[in-house]
Amino acid sequence: MSSPAPKQVLILGGSFAGLTAAYELKRLLKDRVQVTVVDKNDRFMFIPSLVWVPFGWRDPEQISFPLRPACERKGIEFRQATALAIDAAQQHVEIAEVGTPDRKETLRYDYLLIATGPHVQFDIVPGVGPHGGYTESICTAEHALQAREAWQRFLQDPGPVIVGATQGSSCYGAAYEFIFNLEYALRRAKLRDRVTITYVTSEPFLGHFGIGGLKHAQGMTEWFFRHVGLDWVLNAVLERVTPGLVHFRSGQLFTTKDDKKGVDLAGQTLPFKYGMLIPPFLGAEVVRRSGLGNERGFVVTDEYFRHLKYPNIFAAGVAVAVAPPAPCEAGCSVPKTGYISEVMAHTAAANIAASIEGKPLTPKPQADIDAKCILDAGNQGIIMYTDRIYAPQQRRWQTLIPGPWAHWAKLLFEKYFLWKMRTGRVNWP
Ligand SMILES: Cc1cc2nc3c(=O)[nH]c(=O)nc-3n(C[C@H](O)[C@H](O)[C@H](O)COP(=O)(O)OP(=O)(O)OC[C@H]3O[C@@H](n4cnc5c(N)ncnc54)[C@H](O)[C@@H]3O)c2cc1C
Repeated sequence: MSSPAPKQVLILGGSFAGLTAAYELKRLLKDRVQVTVVDKNDRFMFIPSLVWVPFGWRDPEQISFPLRPACERKGIEFRQATALAIDAAQQHVEIAEVGTPDRKETLRYDYLLIATGPHVQFDIVPGVGPHGGYTESICTAEHALQAREAWQRFLQDPGPVIVGATQGSSCYGAAYEFIFNLEYALRRAKLRDRVTITYVTSEPFLGHFGIGGLKHAQGMTEWFFRHVGLDWVLNAVLERVTPGLVHFRSGQLFTTKDDKKGVDLAGQTLPFKYGMLIPPFLGAEVVRRSGLGNERGFVVTDEYFRHLKYPNIFAAGVAVAVAPPAPCEAGCSVPKTGYISEVMAHTAAANIAASIEGKPLTPKPQADIDAKCILDAGNQGIIMYTDRIYAPQQRRWQTLIPGPWAHWAKLLFEKYFLWKMRTGRVNWP
């Protein structure tokens, strides 16, 4: 008797979540599954190192590798294309070849994994972002290279700097890493005494990170801000950004000289010569267009990372909806880091494999997800661990280890992770 035809698994997105799930499925089911990864980009990018690109400490080629050969070595088909629409009832996805958008094609699937990450919502505040705005971004390699050009111009004629995350943001870790690295870069360039640096955030306190903080995070972050002379604005809601000025609807400014009571910034402005602000994320356009997400375009899943209505659609990574675990007056969203994206991808892949094989699925409630993270500060940093990132009340472990080893750990991790993803060893730690 011949064996049944392999099931078709289509994965939208070939980054932390999508590529991890593709390798894992192939490892689990071998020839019993046909895996296709669709991504509009042809390279896997180690996004956490984009914070170093503006300062010239990394080029995008050093922190990325081509997806096609990596996939093909493991028997995975790779298509460089944009997914345009998902038809969940008919079980197919319309794609368009990158470069020839008129060449459309329909890909059929038995199982679909949505791992399309975020759409960066620059228009949350007029004047934010590199597309017609006045602030830089580090969310993509292209943005980070643009931020590098602006940085080179800034070094010739320095002035005040504003770095942070707008109302509704979720990516505070990257904003902290960027401001600490920028401060370090100015010290190396012997320009630090000519520049005031202000961190602008919708967080209610430093070290909140959109998750209510970790034990000792607030004290440690405030200490570090004072130590290196950074000012900060909390509960910031921005009205708009005009050339050289950030306009505040609300926010309280704390300076290193007088950080006890904040200065009310409602209706006020702060000047800048170099600005980098991270806006909120929405779900990817294809998800929003296909009506498979919530009001922000994120996919609501059950504890198997399965769509609530379509049991053959799964989601992983930033594409998944996660409820905010901590209040935040100015609007904070929840961070979904690379490690968390991998955890979700492993769970989704295991459950797709179990569905194909007719075996019981394994739950992974969001409250049980742990988090390991390195926050780099140029030549030092903090290694962070908690056993329950999205359930602050139930945490048993919250560990922060500051020191130069955090920076060395990120250097090592970058190399290790790129090797692991290029060679498909996603079941390694
Ligand atoms: C500047 C920055 C720094 C960060 N630093 C850290 C850090 O230090 N540590 C950490 O753990 N996390 C960090 N993160 C978060 C981390 O990058 C994310 O958690 C991770 O990238 C999420 O992976 P993902 O696969 O869900 O989404 P993404 O990495 O965003 O990938 C989504 C993929 O889907 C593709 N895609 C989207 N739409 C379509 C479409 N319609 N058709 C085809 N392809 C599509 C995209 O091209 C992309 O490759 C950082 C994020 C940023 C922005």
